[in-house]
Amino acid sequence: MRIALIVCDALRFDHVSKDICPNIWELARRGTFIENCYCQFNQTIPSTASILTGTYPIFHKITELMPNKNLKPKTIQELLPKTYFKAGVTTLWYKDLSRGMNYTYKMKHPSEPYDQADKITAQAVRLAREHEDLFLHIHYFDPHYPYRCPRKYADMFFDKPSQENNLEKARRFMTEEAWKRFKQYADSVGVKDVDYFKAWYKGEIYWMDMQLSSLLEILEDDSLIILTSDHGEALGEHGIYFLHNVYLHTWITHVPLIIYPRINVKRTGFVEHVDIAPTILDYLELPSTPLQGSSLLREDRKDAAFSQESRYRVSVAIRFKKYNAILTKRGDSMIGALYDLERDPLEQHPIADQDLWREAFKHLIRWEEKYWA
Ligand SMILES: [Zn+2]
Repeated sequence: MRIALIVCDALRFDHVSKDICPNIWELARRGTFIENCYCQFNQTIPSTASILTGTYPIFHKITELMPNKNLKPKTIQELLPKTYFKAGVTTLWYKDLSRGMNYTYKMKHPSEPYDQADKITAQAVRLAREHEDLFLHIHYFDPHYPYRCPRKYADMFFDKPSQENNLEKARRFMTEEAWKRFKQYADSVGVKDVDYFKAWYKGEIYWMDMQLSSLLEILEDDSLIILTSDHGEALGEHGIYFLHNVYLHTWITHVPLIIYPRINVKRTGFVEHVDIAPTILDYLELPSTPLQGSSLLREDRKDAAFSQESRYRVSVAIRFKKYNAILTKRGDSMIGALYDLERDPLEQHPIADQDLWREAFKHLIRWEEKYWA
């Protein structure tokens, strides 16, 4: 059997739609679309580590863009039987996460663009044709900024009569260096309007989705397909544009998860990235006990989901009931913001409610006691 784990970088949950990614949408329609999945980290490599090891960042200890040289937990590719050919196709450099896997690195030079959905797909298709028993990890970088797909796909989603001059909006959360790079890029491609970049982000997803169709066609027979994103993306919320490593709001942590063929999900409550590897193992009737996540095919309930960030600050988000509680370390103390996502989906008005905070802390303490290495 072929197993394809497809990760689309920075694909927001709310951008999985018929208009923006018709092939992914169709896969979701025919398979199982998990609508309450949360990533464990707001950056690519730590998040991927949780997907591949089925463990939380507080355990696998990859909390920066650099991999941990002594990654403790086993990866899914190491837990699968030797009879599987294990391969990865990506433009990124995974180092330790590639343990037990033959990665095809497209990137020859750091300045080469990461977004190459056409080339990634061609390699994945070749591998899927060559191997019957295959574990394939495919990472598409295309929806990640900077956007470079053909402009006609950006134009498809830009609905203003002309571009406004409003790039300054994106400056607030960027360092001087990042702003300089952003402005330089915008000038080089003649973009003055942040909404045009938002349309281009959709265009990138559309372009990636178009490439994906030939791979999905081959995989649909006798394959298990798991499609998710490593994290979401900020598109202007709280004045943050085209970044995901700042804060743990739900547009960053809420991710799509599609499993094909359709499965009987017995889990109730939340789903997390750490549950992906155990679900794959369980689907293949292999033991998944060393992992911290648990199979969606087993009856159980998850009352909270946890996400972390640490590049600029140490934060943890506790997603429970209809709330998102974000705790951030400032010096020796913690500051917190708790949002009611039903009343305040844009997370603009933190609520002060002692009982809800007590509940959030109860979840957090239980999680830390259970999973901290
Ligand atoms: Zn990423």
